[in-house]
Amino acid sequence: MNKKQEDYQDHTVEWLKLRDEIFYCQKCPLYQTRKYPVIGEGSHQAKIMFIGEAPGFNEDQTGHPFCGAAGQVLDDLLNKVGLLRKDIYICNILKCRPPQNRDPQKNEIESCVPYLDRQIDLIQPKVICPLGNYATAYILEKYGLKSMIQGISKIHGQIFEAKNISYRLKIIPFYHPAIATYNPNTKTILENDFNILKHLI
Ligand code: URA
Repeated sequence: MNKKQEDYQDHTVEWLKLRDEIFYCQKCPLYQTRKYPVIGEGSHQAKIMFIGEAPGFNEDQTGHPFCGAAGQVLDDLLNKVGLLRKDIYICNILKCRPPQNRDPQKNEIESCVPYLDRQIDLIQPKVICPLGNYATAYILEKYGLKSMIQGISKIHGQIFEAKNISYRLKIIPFYHPAIATYNPNTKTILENDFNILKHLI
């Protein structure tokens, strides 16, 4: 095991197994161009789980989620509602960076989401906040809410009640924080939407 892999700091047998499977994953062609997979970070006991789309350049180079410009926006939004990264868990639909940050492809999503499903099962969050269209569509469909899927501009900030076999949870889709890096007006919308979290924590 090399240093980078140890850095992922996961504790239980299930998390260690998941970490290693993702670290050596070759289920889709993205492993050929990645530097590091981005597994996810934060509290394994988190009540709130954020799910982004896919690693970008900085994330690929470091193995850490949301460590570039979109991550700064996210940190700012979290701080404004009194949350820190260590209080939440954050990961992505795809664990490896698509070349040139292109959109995730269907085969890549299908190969990768079983890892996300296991992360959700291990954490059992009370609230899932998918960021952007890809994460929102996947999560709504996963919880039997396919008919609710619309573009993120229509459903951001709405609270969807969902349940799986053993527990209930809320799904609150947000715009992807990257949008605020090229359209500053959307930062206010994101701030308003994030305020919902204040009432839930
Ligand atoms: N965008 C994402 O969706 N995820 C990251 O980790 C970084 C940028």
